[in-house]
Amino acid sequence: MKVLVIGSGAREHALVAALSRDPQVEAVIAAPGNPGIGRMCETRPVDATDSAAVVDLAEELDADLVVVGPEAPLVAGVADALRQASFPVFGPGQEAATLEGSKAFAKEVMAAAGVPTAAAVPAATEGEARAALERFGAPYVVKADGLAAGKGVVVTDDFDAALAHATSCLAVSDRVVIEDYLDGPEVSLFVLCDGTTALPLEPAQDFKRIGDGDSGPNTGGMGAYSPLPWAPPGMVDEIVATVAQPVVDEMARRGSPFTGLLYCGLALTRNGIEVVEFNVRFGDPETQAVLARLRSPLAQTLLAAAEGRLAQVPALEWDPRSAVAVVLAAHSYPEAPRTGDPISGLEEASALADTLVLHAGTTTSDQGETLTGGGRVLSVVALGEDLDAARARAYEAVELIGFDGEQHRGDIALTAAQGRVAVPVRTGAQ
Ligand code: AMP
Repeated sequence: MKVLVIGSGAREHALVAALSRDPQVEAVIAAPGNPGIGRMCETRPVDATDSAAVVDLAEELDADLVVVGPEAPLVAGVADALRQASFPVFGPGQEAATLEGSKAFAKEVMAAAGVPTAAAVPAATEGEARAALERFGAPYVVKADGLAAGKGVVVTDDFDAALAHATSCLAVSDRVVIEDYLDGPEVSLFVLCDGTTALPLEPAQDFKRIGDGDSGPNTGGMGAYSPLPWAPPGMVDEIVATVAQPVVDEMARRGSPFTGLLYCGLALTRNGIEVVEFNVRFGDPETQAVLARLRSPLAQTLLAAAEGRLAQVPALEWDPRSAVAVVLAAHSYPEAPRTGDPISGLEEASALADTLVLHAGTTTSDQGETLTGGGRVLSVVALGEDLDAARARAYEAVELIGFDGEQHRGDIALTAAQGRVAVPVRTGAQ
């Protein structure tokens, strides 16, 4: 198989690494890719949101499968254009991608499918936002109603900060969503979908805030780990039965079947499992941790999803070890990331056993030096016998890498490794 991967982040680097391990894969080509991906496979320059350009490239390469990584091309309809040109594509069409592109649409689908989620109110004016915030009370949750790369959400106890975020969202969009706070540990579950069947991967947890102890602003994600030693038995089956399958059925009923990855962002609350958000693609950085553990052939599995054959796929096989991914971010991320800082230690870190250094925002200087080129610069993912061992390996690699102003969290998977993640006891209110 020849597989074309669209995107340029650490998620796509992890996808390229996992796809390359599939014995049926003869070549992986990434577009546009990044300098790290370029060391692993061929890369081609392309504007990932330009449907015609992506179709031209798939035709030129005679791709057997196209995997679309990021949300922007999906919301722009790149998967539809590829399907029209008869390419098997892993990624939903534009309409199904609205599950991520519009929080209000996602809430509407969940209501129709009977999926538990936080109560939410769309507000079109500052007055409406103020009234909704007063009604829900603290902690306040304010969400921009469009794609915001994970950064459009503010969760705060400060009423004025919540209202200020609502006002700034309303300055650029006609509505903002105010919702109830979901209290409980978060779980990210990736579910492969082929329009009718939902096949879950192993669950992960990510770390959204910039600082240790979940302090500071939300980011695109600062780290992740898998599996979740604290997860209640049967959790994954329950998420598929109560969340993923009902959404897949509802999308099919609406005539926009969901083919691709349904990312279920969930909270385990006192009232049971509730949806925090959906994304329509592999999440970053959870992908780095989850795919490091996948033993089944990824390209064959994604092709089965693209061709509506997931029900026939054998049970997925997993490395029983734990994976921890730590993100290294640029100076002043997430507010105003600085670029152009030289990065050292990449070779040394990559040489460590059971460790992958995945590139996200990097560039190469004219002299061939690797420089920071974006907010999240690198992800380091390591495998270990348990979370403690995986953490030790990942942080050993992180310490070898250096650039001016580098930021990372020191507590990725820490509470889970110490057995300190508490799942609230259910009240049976479902
Ligand atoms: P989203 O963009 O919807 O993924 O939200 C980003 C992050 O904000 C989530 O991963 C949660 O950590 C947090 N968040 C969003 N909605 C809620 C909610 N209703 N209750 C608690 N935390 C939330």
